[in-house]
Amino acid sequence: MQHNASKQDTILVHVGRRPHDHQGMVNPPVYHASTILFPTLDALDGRDPNTRYTYARRGTPTSAALEEAVCALEHAAGTILTPSGMSALSTAILACVRAGDHILVTDALYAPVRHWLDRMLSRLGVAITYYDPAIAPAALERLITDRTRMITMESPGSLTFEMQDIRAIVAVAQARGIATLIDNTWSSGYFLKPLTLGVDISIQAATKYIGGHSDLMMGVIACSARALPWVRDAATLLGLCVAPDDVFLALRGLRSMGTRLRQHHANGLAIARWLQGRPEVLRVLHPALPDDPGHALWTRDFTGASSLFGFVLRPAPRSALAAMMNAMRLFGMGYSWGGFESLLLPTDPAASRSATVWNPGGQTMRIHIGLEDPEDLIADLEDGLARLTTAAGHP
Ligand SMILES: *Cc1c(COP(=O)(O)O)cnc(C)c1O
Repeated sequence: MQHNASKQDTILVHVGRRPHDHQGMVNPPVYHASTILFPTLDALDGRDPNTRYTYARRGTPTSAALEEAVCALEHAAGTILTPSGMSALSTAILACVRAGDHILVTDALYAPVRHWLDRMLSRLGVAITYYDPAIAPAALERLITDRTRMITMESPGSLTFEMQDIRAIVAVAQARGIATLIDNTWSSGYFLKPLTLGVDISIQAATKYIGGHSDLMMGVIACSARALPWVRDAATLLGLCVAPDDVFLALRGLRSMGTRLRQHHANGLAIARWLQGRPEVLRVLHPALPDDPGHALWTRDFTGASSLFGFVLRPAPRSALAAMMNAMRLFGMGYSWGGFESLLLPTDPAASRSATVWNPGGQTMRIHIGLEDPEDLIADLEDGLARLTTAAGHP
């Protein structure tokens, strides 16, 4: 199907679909494949320019449809699919470094990747320096050595939601030919377009809002023209591929992602504002709130907010926290996020920091606001906070 739409929601509905190549079916077919047969020896030997697919690990029409869609979403020259968000990060970083190199990594990055960096990448001879996500450009420059090959960002940061000055960091990196990468899972590529700001690689856990229904594990690596050959080569050498039924789920999720994200934005802000007014809550960590320290950066670079954010509860014994958490009716307690349902989790950001100190004076929580009616969610939270207060023995 031909389309020359310019609006993001229209593109997400139409991109990667060619119904009249498939008897008019609205969605692309799901090709289950390993072997792909070549009609002639020329095709096998790569002398036939019409040969597009050679072996299913290296791509099928199904994976190509999702890659095309993510390219449109992220304004990318090319997209690589990986089995998880974690493997998207590790693959993209591996693609850019070699033994002897040095990389700069935000202190607020997704913690499991920090374990991979510290326990595996460092073993391969890559030096890692963590930096304060709110670092000033001059201070960042002082951390750069002639070995520095890459700067990674995540904005807002995992668990703590600090905003980063992406434009300033990119300017520092570009002046020295250093590659930049951002974990763009929070915005889902819908509210932030890092590649248009000069970032080389934007990765996402498609597990989150692209999937959107808590039933998918996948990562996507959206690349600039410069970064694409590095990342494609690394993913091919590592043998990464994704399953066709998972690609189908990701494509299905993308079609409604704009509508879902606008509702997540509104519901998330409603709950964030409500939490701000609660005496049990010391602080709400949400960059779309006007008094958040990252608000100006969020306003400058983002067109909306997803519904994952943090807040800090006044100190209370673990038993009081358990009284609150164990009887939540609508909020589930579990990892991951980005689905249609709400989640609530106590977190420990201090345990995965080295360049900065996280000491907010109480229990940090992470909350994901789903597509339920916010009034019902507020009632659930209100009861939970009452249980916390009663169990803590406060007035
Ligand atoms: C969940 C998450 C990941 C990892 O994604 P998986 O699909 O669970 O491997 C990476 N980055 C961020 C910010 C995440 O929230």
